[in-house]
Amino acid sequence: MKKKTAGKSQFSEILLKWHDNENKREMPWKGEKDPYKIWLSEIILQQTRVEQGLAYYLRFIEKYPTIFELAAAPDMEVFKLWEGLGYYSRCRNLLHTARFIVDRFNGRFPASYDGLLELKGVGSYTAAAIASFAFELPFAVVDGNVLRVLARYFGVKDPVNETVIKEKLTALAQSLLSVSRPAAYNQAIMDFGATVCKPQNPACSNCPFQKDCTAFQGGLVDVLPVKTQKPPRKERFFLYFIISYKGMIWIRERTEKDIWRHLFEFFLVECSSKEGLEPSMMVNYMESFGWQVQSVVTHPEIFRQLLTHQEISTSFVWVTLKKKPHLPPDGKWVEQNEIGGLAFPQTIQKFLQQNKLTIKA
Ligand code: SF4
Repeated sequence: MKKKTAGKSQFSEILLKWHDNENKREMPWKGEKDPYKIWLSEIILQQTRVEQGLAYYLRFIEKYPTIFELAAAPDMEVFKLWEGLGYYSRCRNLLHTARFIVDRFNGRFPASYDGLLELKGVGSYTAAAIASFAFELPFAVVDGNVLRVLARYFGVKDPVNETVIKEKLTALAQSLLSVSRPAAYNQAIMDFGATVCKPQNPACSNCPFQKDCTAFQGGLVDVLPVKTQKPPRKERFFLYFIISYKGMIWIRERTEKDIWRHLFEFFLVECSSKEGLEPSMMVNYMESFGWQVQSVVTHPEIFRQLLTHQEISTSFVWVTLKKKPHLPPDGKWVEQNEIGGLAFPQTIQKFLQQNKLTIKA
C-alpha cells in the first residue's frame, strides 16, 4: 500500500478543527456517554442506513430505556420491534448480550476494549465506538466512511475491502487518532465521511483537506476508494402457501441454520428456478400434496428481497382447504388475527401489509 505521509501530522488537527467549528450533523446518540445507548445505536446501524435505523433506535430506547428492560423482554416482542431491519442475527445477539451483561456484570458494560470485544455481536468497530464514546479510551473506529476518507486523502489505490489493506488502514487510523480527544476524533471522522467526503459528489470545494488530499490533487476523487467486486448473490425462489382451514392459518418458526432464523413463515416450497413461482406450478404442487381445495387466490406479484449474499424472489398463494391437511409437525395453526403479533421476514411482512392481512378480515 503506497501512502502519502505528508499531511499525516496535521490530519487529526484539521479534522478536529472542522468538527469543533463546522460539523452540524445531528444524531440522537451524539455525545451520548451511556454505553447501553451507544451499543444499541451501533448494533442497529450495522448494515443499515442511518435514516432507516434512526426510528428503530428511538423506538427501542422508548420501550427499553435501560439494558435491564431489554434483557427482561420476551424474545418475540424484541423480534417484532426489530421487524423490517433484517439481519436477524443482530437481534439475536442483541438479546443474548443484554442478558449476558445483566446476569454476569449486573448491567454494567465492560469498560475496556478487550472486554467489549468478548460480547456477542460486538466486533472491532463497535468495541472501538463504545470504548471511545463511553469511556474516552483511545481506539479508532474504522468503517466504510473512515476507509473512504483515508483512501482518498492518502491516495490508497489498493482495494479497501481486502483484509490486508483494511488492516493497514486500521493501523493508519489508529496512528491518526487524537489520544486526548478520542470520542471527538471518532465522531468527527465518521461525520466528515458522511457529510463532506461522501461516496458520491464529495464536497471537495469546501473541504479543509483539499490542499493535502492526494485524490483531489491527483484527480482521483471519483476513482478512490477502490473495491474488489463481490461474487454475485445466490438466487433463491420461495413459494409460500398461506393455508387457511376453518379460519385458522398454518405457520411455522424457521429454526434451521439458514436465513430468517426464529422468524415465522407460511408453508414454503423452495423452487429451483423462477418458473416454479408461476401459477400453473402452484396448481401442480397442490395436487401433489393431495389437498382438498375450497378456494385459491394467487398473487401475481413477485416480491424481491436482497440480503448480503442472497437474492430471494417470493410468490404467495392463499389456499382455503375443505379438509385439514397433513403438514409438517413443526408448524401450528393460529387465528388470522394473531398474525399481526408475530415477527415475519421483511418479504412476508410486505406482502401482508400490501394485502392488509395483519388484521382479521
Ligand atoms: S478534498 Fe474531496 S476527496 Fe479529499 S478529503 Fe476532501 S472531500 Fe474527500
